[in-house]
Amino acid sequence: MLSIYDYTLDELKNSIKPSFRAKQLYNWLYKQYATSYEDMKNIPKDLKKDLEQNYYIDIAKVINTEISSDGTRKYLFAFKDNKTAEAVLLLMKEKQKDKDGNITKSEKYTFCISSQVGCKVGCSFCLTAKGGFVRDLTAGEIVAQIVYLKKLNNIPQNKAVNIVYMGMGEPLDNYDNLVKAIKIISHLDGLAISTRRQTISTSGISSKIKKLGQENLGVQLAISLHAVDDELRSELIPMNKAYNIDSIIQAVREFPIDSRKKVMFEYLVIKDKNDDLKSASKLVKLLNGIDAKVNLIYFNPFEGTVYQTPSKNSMIRFQEHLLSHGVICTIRESKGIDISAACGQLKEKIEKEK
Ligand code: SAH
Ligand code: SF4
Repeated sequence: MLSIYDYTLDELKNSIKPSFRAKQLYNWLYKQYATSYEDMKNIPKDLKKDLEQNYYIDIAKVINTEISSDGTRKYLFAFKDNKTAEAVLLLMKEKQKDKDGNITKSEKYTFCISSQVGCKVGCSFCLTAKGGFVRDLTAGEIVAQIVYLKKLNNIPQNKAVNIVYMGMGEPLDNYDNLVKAIKIISHLDGLAISTRRQTISTSGISSKIKKLGQENLGVQLAISLHAVDDELRSELIPMNKAYNIDSIIQAVREFPIDSRKKVMFEYLVIKDKNDDLKSASKLVKLLNGIDAKVNLIYFNPFEGTVYQTPSKNSMIRFQEHLLSHGVICTIRESKGIDISAACGQLKEKIEKEK
């Protein structure tokens, strides 16, 4: 049996009679965040019974929550088989100009969503990799993380949120479920989260980047580049041996990009590994001709790692080199440092305590 969150509206319309009930159901699930059929007042009793027998709705339980002093909230979900994955809510203050030119401040929500339990890619700097690969998340399990984050935080249905697939797992290694989830999440009768507000972060499976480009969903792309030469990149991301830097850059060049947006390149900075200006200048050359923005990330250490966090000075020096050569570059604010910050860390902590 699959979960109700696994179905597109069209699929439900085909199996639920009369079909207008499917839209009512979607409304309950995605606009009212109902997590039980009981709560769905205008759905007739018989249909509720039918739904209960055919589609489970109790897809996830929150088994741990951590709230940071900066507002970051991290949730550990357990699914039906008790496998767990994390999702994080990030709060950012956003300045906007209203129509009279006055600056107003509003809160911007970003959800960091997991795509797999564990990960096959095995990056040497990543805690998720340590536990190996367990399984893909279903489309419904990806969708449900968003529903639960909205419900748990009382986020109104019409408040725009951004989704980044940067939680646990490699989203493009779970391609079909991810694409289906994105279709469900963006449907106007459901959560209605525009694909332009959804960013897929990938460690660089070039063949899947090409495939995703052909799908033309309108999603944003973030590439976890982290290194400018293949030797170091293969040490950090073993998959680089199969999909090297050139193949990734080639796939990015072919990717359809919204003219108002840019491709994000994530660059995890590790002390004495890739924080030098020679690397910065190679990065400028590599990105030549691509509408790119670079996001520098401080390496977030964990027990047993051989890597070290770079100094603030070397981060700023690296950033300034890029900026002075015309490449947009930001340094990622480390949100939620006081709770288990980097993805994978809450899960690790809970499992140790068991
Ligand atoms: N698998 C995808 C998305 C999930 S990882 C990817 O690799 O892009 C999301 C981000 O977390 C990646 O950019 C990754 O480099 C970063 N990350 C992993 N381990 C980290 C650590 N120890 N410190 C800081 N960032 C880390
Ligand atoms: Fe997987 Fe991304 Fe972690 Fe690499 S950084 S092991 S691709 S989750």
